[in-house]
Amino acid sequence: MNLDQFYKQIVLDHAKSRRNYREMDGYTHKVHYKNPTCGDVMTLYARLDDNHIEDISFIGEGCFISMASSSMFTTIGKGKSLDELNDLSALFNEMIVKGKEVEDERLEEAVSLKDIHQLPARYNCALMPWQAFQKLMKEDREIN
Ligand code: ZN
Repeated sequence: MNLDQFYKQIVLDHAKSRRNYREMDGYTHKVHYKNPTCGDVMTLYARLDDNHIEDISFIGEGCFISMASSSMFTTIGKGKSLDELNDLSALFNEMIVKGKEVEDERLEEAVSLKDIHQLPARYNCALMPWQAFQKLMKEDREIN
């Protein structure tokens, strides 16, 4: 199995067995997000304690890229601070949009999506949960 096949297996596994795929009781933040280019939809839930993400989950429907990315994103986000996840969001964006090689272990299995860089029409699918997270933080700032 070469590396490309290895990455593809990881992506398909996350799309099929979605991690953190559930509605959340006791969330502090909830945001709906729609990817206009592919029709993917998701609801992102988070329970925050100040700057710390105690729990994060999602539900939604869409293509396998968006669902795999959401599964990976929530796995990464759990236990992180908002600032740290924001930094990783910028890194992930560079990997997908600019094709930058990223060697940050904190991105975990999300690095398996790097070849999406070859498919500009699917950028928004891979970025969906990260953009939903940005929306969630923006709305939080407006409340504060
Ligand atoms: Zn999609």
